[in-house]
This record gives sequence, structure tokens and C-alpha cells, in this order.
Amino acid sequence: MKRYFFFMLLISSIFSACNKVPKYASYDEYPVYDGSDLELTYSKQSCKFRVWAPTASQVKLLIYENGNEGGAYQTLDMDRSEKGTWTLKVDENLKGKFYTFQLKIDEKWLDETPGMWVKATGVNGNRAAIIDFAETNPAGWENDVRPPLKNFTDIMLYEVHARDFSVSPNSGMKYKGKFLAFTERGTKNTAGEPTGIDHLKELGITHVHLLPSFDFSSVDETKPKDNKYNWGYDPLNYNVPEGSYSTDPNNPVTRIKEFKQMVQSLHQAGIRVIMDVVYNHTAIGKNSHLDLLAPGYFYRHNADSTLSNASGCGNETASERGMMRKFIVESVVYWATEYHVDGFRFDLMGIHDIETMNAVRAALDKVDQSIFIYGEGWTAAASPLDEGLRAVKKNAKELDNIAVFSDDIRDALKGSWMHSQIPGFVSGIDSLEEAVKFGVVGATQHPQVDYSKALYSKAPYVNNPTQIINYVSCHDDMCLVDKLRESKPADATDDELVRFNKLAQTVVFTSQGIPFIYAGEELYRTKKGIHNTFQSPDSINRIDWNFKTTHRDVFDYYKGLIALRKGHSAFRIPTQELTQEHLKFLNLLVPNVVGFTLNNHVNGEVWKDVLVLYNGNRKPVRVGIPAGEWNVVCHDGVINLSGIAQVSDTIFTVAPSSASILYTK
Ligand code: CA
Repeated sequence: MKRYFFFMLLISSIFSACNKVPKYASYDEYPVYDGSDLELTYSKQSCKFRVWAPTASQVKLLIYENGNEGGAYQTLDMDRSEKGTWTLKVDENLKGKFYTFQLKIDEKWLDETPGMWVKATGVNGNRAAIIDFAETNPAGWENDVRPPLKNFTDIMLYEVHARDFSVSPNSGMKYKGKFLAFTERGTKNTAGEPTGIDHLKELGITHVHLLPSFDFSSVDETKPKDNKYNWGYDPLNYNVPEGSYSTDPNNPVTRIKEFKQMVQSLHQAGIRVIMDVVYNHTAIGKNSHLDLLAPGYFYRHNADSTLSNASGCGNETASERGMMRKFIVESVVYWATEYHVDGFRFDLMGIHDIETMNAVRAALDKVDQSIFIYGEGWTAAASPLDEGLRAVKKNAKELDNIAVFSDDIRDALKGSWMHSQIPGFVSGIDSLEEAVKFGVVGATQHPQVDYSKALYSKAPYVNNPTQIINYVSCHDDMCLVDKLRESKPADATDDELVRFNKLAQTVVFTSQGIPFIYAGEELYRTKKGIHNTFQSPDSINRIDWNFKTTHRDVFDYYKGLIALRKGHSAFRIPTQELTQEHLKFLNLLVPNVVGFTLNNHVNGEVWKDVLVLYNGNRKPVRVGIPAGEWNVVCHDGVINLSGIAQVSDTIFTVAPSSASILYTK
């Protein structure tokens, strides 16, 4: 009896030693699992599960018939394995089933989670789906290739929300608000003019940048008839496409296949695809799908242990921690390989650390060096991460071939983003010449720019123009039309507002760097003065395709600007050195005018010298220009690459609030 008791005690203590929950003094001590088989490895013969849950005392796998409803038909215990992971192999073909993980920590069972590496889900993304990815490929997917791209400065970005693109009754598209709208050809507005992908081809942009299209939480996928709108900056599952943009969110295969069809169609149209990625925060912090694997670990905290909030959305992730960094790197590589995505726009990139962003670059370089990476070089609020470590604008020189948005050029042109009534250079405001010049040289170092007079940054912050995104509007804040109207001089006419608009985009498209436009600006879109339309109805956010007809003059001008840039490599200089050598500012001695030349066939330019003049004044100005036989291709709000006029006088008159562009042969 006594011997039996001691035997039992021995067994029990061995058991508890095996099952002992590791204690870590800090998150930095958590083991990092370096394998590539996290969460699910599917085959027709078996499913291998491996979940990283280093602080759990027990982990269960729950298997379901349904993606959203009903209880688990099977619950299995997982076994502790290496580096904080738990494993289980099920020797059957589980295709069509769904699963979750559930952890016991401190004697308490947490909520279930589909995991964070999850690649397919049921409706609303709360359960992981087991599918055969071979069935997600559209016909011809194996022949899908990225359209050619030589330099990053050849890129012209078009930022669009999947729903805005097609949901308007006059879009002519069948798949309204869906990924598949990007596969429709021959669509027209009420007046019979091309919309959708045909319109994008006509416009001439090179890259479509999709607002968040991974699985976000704010739109209930089971209620498509509600037509609920959201930008999607509330991540739920990073590696799964959003269900509400698919034709059947209940079928886990559909959204994946349709996302691929969208990419394939855009590629066939010669357009590359960029995803807006939002790894900087999750829709909820505590009890998010990540947090339920390792509570607290994936987030930064304040000194009082509360979640820090550099995103302004209630939490911020901790990219400097091993498993979060690994996740971000593997996630972008996954989208680039499985979905053939061509680039990534990092939301609030300044929340991430420089080392992680450079690891992202290095990993994507192994896939394809022409994949483009850029981000917002700022945070939305204070972060505990040391500023010297952050991937912010002022540290951009430490980022390898990663670009940042230039809020400097944006607000110099249109005025303050924060104070809607403060106008900028294009509306006739004085003393912004150096701020505009800062944009013209793409935030690089140039001997003729007085950086002390730039708008925000008082020093160049990128190595080359390949690292800067020039823009005047995006989804955030007022769109360009609304901002210019809100901040207009009291006596400015509607015709003048069009002039301000064209001038602003002319600076964007003739500056060194990478130009970016917000979808619909080329049609003179309005969002009725609303700043932050993240959950405004379709009536505010949708592109009204009939504007293409009613604002034909604006569309033609934007199209002309894009054709100018595409046909003329002088506007696409890839290096700071060549910019310094060939871009010369003119000393014009007229306030609110900026002029420069791009000399001597720079960057393979077919024209010998190019002369660009921006007149921010609401009146014509006479300026001295270099002697030469000049051909005018842009003047007084008109672009005609075949030529508008020829001049050889050294005095040239620039029309009010407009740009002139001339060249010599
Ligand atoms: Ca969703």
C-alpha cells in the first residue's frame, strides 16, 4: 500500500514536471519558433497542427462542421512540443471542416481563436477553415506574371477602396462592391464612357493600391444586404481576404479565388497590385486572435501595464518581438507568393521598428526585387518604442529601399490637413516656394533648396527619389476638391478651383519621386466636405462614374499628366546624384512661382531640356526663361503632348494658378 502510494507520487511528479508551465521574466524571453509549419499543414492524408502558445498549461483543438454556427463535433488535446509550440496530427482528410485553438492559462480556459497564421476562415473569420489551396487557383493562374517594372520611380499609384470602385449605380459593373468588379471589361457609365478597369487602362496608372482587403471585423459578412461600409483599418485575420468583398463569404474558397481573379485581371491589364497592410494594431487588443495565443506578448504596453496606443485605435503591436516580426515578414511573403501581390503600403509604419521593415525588404527581395514597399512614416500617437528605432520619416535613410509618404509636399500644395480652412501654394498662399522645391527634389538633398523654409521637415530625409511618395490627397482627410473648396480665398470662382486642382497634381506628377492619387480625383470627386469617411455610406464614398462625363476637362488633364510622366523619364530620375546634376531651379525673382529645368536628356529622356513652371499666383506672371527653341506641351490648364505652341522669347507668361511645361529638342 505504502509502496503503491510512493509510486503514484513519483508518476504524478514526473507528469507535473513534463507539464510544467514555463515562466518567463519578460516577453523577450519567450521562445521564438523558427519553423514554417505554424498552425496547419494540410494534405489529403492528414492535418498537422502546430500552434505557438508558450504560456499555456493545456491546449485544445476544436473541430467543427460549420464555419460559424453549432458546437465542435470533436475536441482533441494537443501535445507540448519545441519552442513554445503545441502539436497534433489528425490522420484523416479534414477538408471542408473548421477549427479553433483554445488555451488554458492560469487554470482558466481562454476564448477560442482560429490562430494568427490562419489562411482561410468561415464567415466573419472566427473559425479557421481547412481547404485545399489547389482549388483556389483560377484558370491560367500558373501563367500569371507581374507586369514589367524597371525603376520604382516609374510607378504611378492609384489608391482605391474595393467598394468605392464599383458600387455606384452608374458604374456599369455587375459585381458591385466585390473583388470581381476588377475583372469586368467593357463597363460604361450612363453616357457610355469606360469605367472600371478599362478606365484605369485609359488613365494610365501603373499600380492599384487597395485599401485594406484582408479580413477586417467591422462589416458583418453574414448581412450583405446591410451594405455596411468601412475602410477596413480594423484587422481581424491578416492572411485571409475580406469576406464581404467576395460573392460568398460562407464558402472559404470563394474569397481566396476571387482575390486571385482580381490580381490576375489587373495583371492582364498591365497594372500591378498593392495591398494596404495594417500590422500596427488589431481591431481589439485584449482577446484578439493574436492575444489569445500569448496574452500580452504581441502588444506594447505603458509603464502601468496598460496597452499603449500609438495607432490611436486602442493598441499597438510589438514588431520588435521575435514572433511578431516573424509573423509580419512571413505574412507579406505569403501575399506576394500565394496571391502574386506586387507591393505593400504599411499603415502607420512608424509604429514598426526599422529592423523589422528591413527584414520585410530582405524577405521580399528573395521573391522579387521589384515588389514595392512604402508606408506612413509616422505614428498616430505616442509609442513606448524609442524614436530612434522607429520606421518614421526622419529615419527613412536607414530603411532599405522602402518609401515614405511626403506630407511635406502634400500640405505645401493644398494647405494644412488638420485645419481645413488653411490653404496652400496652389490657392495663392505666399512664401511656400522652398516647401514646393523640397517636393520637386523628392525630399532628397539638393544644393538649391533652403530646407529651413520647408513646411515640416527641415532636412532632406531620403537617400533617393525612389523612397518618396508625392501626393496631395488620399483616403484620409478631405479629398482634394473638398479641401480646395473649404480653404478657398473668398472671391475664388469654381473655375479657379479647377485651376488649383490641376496645378496641385501637376506638381505631384512632375516632381521626382513616386506620384500617388486617390481614386476618383481624376473625375473631380467630392465627399461632400467630410474629413474622415471611414464608415460613411456608399453615397459619400463611392466613385460617381458620371463625373467622368461632367468633368471631362479634369479627366483629360490628369490623363495628360500621366501620359507626360510615362513618356518622359526626366520626371522619373531614380537617384539623388542624377537629380542634383540635372535638375536646376531658375532664379525667377517672382513670388509664388517655382521653375526648374531637367537638363541634357537626363535618365534617357528623349527631350533635351525640359522646363517646368508653377505659378501659385491667381494672376498671370512674366518670368525670364533660358534662351532656346521651346515647345510648349502644358499651358493654362491644357496638356497636349503633340505641342501647343513654340516660343523662342526669353520672357514667358505663365497663366494664373497653373503650370507651363516646355521642352527643347
Ligand atoms: Ca471580415
